[in-house]
Amino acid sequence: MTDSIFSKIIRGEIESHKIYEDDFVIAILDIGPLSEGHALVIPKEPAVTIDELSDEHAAAVGRVLPRITRAIKKVTGARAVNILQNNGADAGQAVEHVHFHIIPRFKDRGENVAGKPDIKNGPGLQMIWNPGTLTQEEALELGKHIKRLL
Ligand code: 5GP
Repeated sequence: MTDSIFSKIIRGEIESHKIYEDDFVIAILDIGPLSEGHALVIPKEPAVTIDELSDEHAAAVGRVLPRITRAIKKVTGARAVNILQNNGADAGQAVEHVHFHIIPRFKDRGENVAGKPDIKNGPGLQMIWNPGTLTQEEALELGKHIKRLL
């Protein structure tokens, strides 16, 4: 548990552009948007990573993510969206309080001009996806151990 900048935002000690709030969740516009409409959905529980989050708060986030995503898509005109959730510094997590990024994608608006960041002409987000392979034996062995804990 930690007192992050998001805890301060939740308590209203730091200003934010709040777009949604209920008893368990707050959603704000990201201060450093990767694209127009980039927002953060944050459970009020001060868990650092998703594996620390209670079922109750996880469910509350899941309940509102689709609705907030729909509103952002409608307002921005985005046809595609990434939901991104970083856990731990090695995964790129900067703020130590669970949060879900809603990142609208605008491929049809063209690529960024190098050196000229312009979130309306993204992509502010680029992902390199290098898939490996999974053998039947590896899957059975790995799956067996994970299932035992669930
Ligand atoms: P992470 O890398 O931890 O997944 O992402 C943290 C995000 O929080 C970043 O996209 C960053 O721009 C955003 N952020 C950090 N501090 C603030 C803040 O004070 N206000 C808002 N609205 N966003 C913040």
